[in-house]
Amino acid sequence: MIIVRTLAQLESELVPLRAGHSKVGLVPTMGALHQGHVSLVDRARQESDYVVVSIFVNPTQFNNPVDLATYPRSQEQDIEMLEVNGCDLLFMPTAGVVYPEPDSRVFDFTPLDKVMEGAFRPGHFNGVAQVVSRLFDMIKPDIAFFGEKDFQQLAIIMRMTREMGYPIQIVACPTVREPDGLAMSSRNRRLSSQQRQSAAKISEILFKSCTFVAQKRVDALKIDVIAQINQVQELEVEYFEIVDATTLQPISNWEDAVKVAGCIAVFCGEVRLIDHIDYK
Ligand code: AMP
Repeated sequence: MIIVRTLAQLESELVPLRAGHSKVGLVPTMGALHQGHVSLVDRARQESDYVVVSIFVNPTQFNNPVDLATYPRSQEQDIEMLEVNGCDLLFMPTAGVVYPEPDSRVFDFTPLDKVMEGAFRPGHFNGVAQVVSRLFDMIKPDIAFFGEKDFQQLAIIMRMTREMGYPIQIVACPTVREPDGLAMSSRNRRLSSQQRQSAAKISEILFKSCTFVAQKRVDALKIDVIAQINQVQELEVEYFEIVDATTLQPISNWEDAVKVAGCIAVFCGEVRLIDHIDYK
């Protein structure tokens, strides 16, 4: 695996590959890698000839400076993990490489970016769109892999790719969970052992709620899930929305959409966790 930090190095590695028509796959990450990230790398290995992983903790997508300062970083472990999992090139740029000038672009993905994460983390998706488009411009992959774990982000990236005309195929990869159901996340490392136990209740309650879809109205199910999660020690729901999985807009009746998802953000102590579930 080659580790590359500058644009010139990146170009010298990728130009010959592109000339040889190799299919370049990209897995963008913020590091502190876990098996969820590895599942994206596995998929990239299957579907491309050359696998690029980027690690960059993008400052422009953090609306909360404490979250940015405390975001877990584990460079050496990450490098080892990528070496053994078939990454060909690891791109670890500095902020100066990604943003040679401050990025003042303003994206508008109405209505996708106005709800849930978009409403509670102002500017977050603008930063995500900035960094992903910069990575696309620098790496020019043929195919890029994103996790359904970040359900709303995935929808926004698909829309951005389409609207900006990038000739890049976006592949959605399923959420990888711990054996007790907790969605894997770099932020899980910040949980105490008590908090870690509480965090497992989020997916447990979400999974159980699926069995009530036939019996409960959307509003009633929503209220139940929020109440049950809030009863767990150290958990506090920031939002839980039941939405049309395509438009991400909240629905009132189960019949309002063909595909329905539940999307949640929960504080577990200071750590903010997100998860999602398919209701139909
Ligand atoms: P992050 O490093 O958190 O920005 O995530 C990088 C990529 O990995 C994103 O496309 C995420 O959606 C994806 N990802 C994060 N956690 C998981 C997970 N548990 N399962 C599958 N993909 C994930």
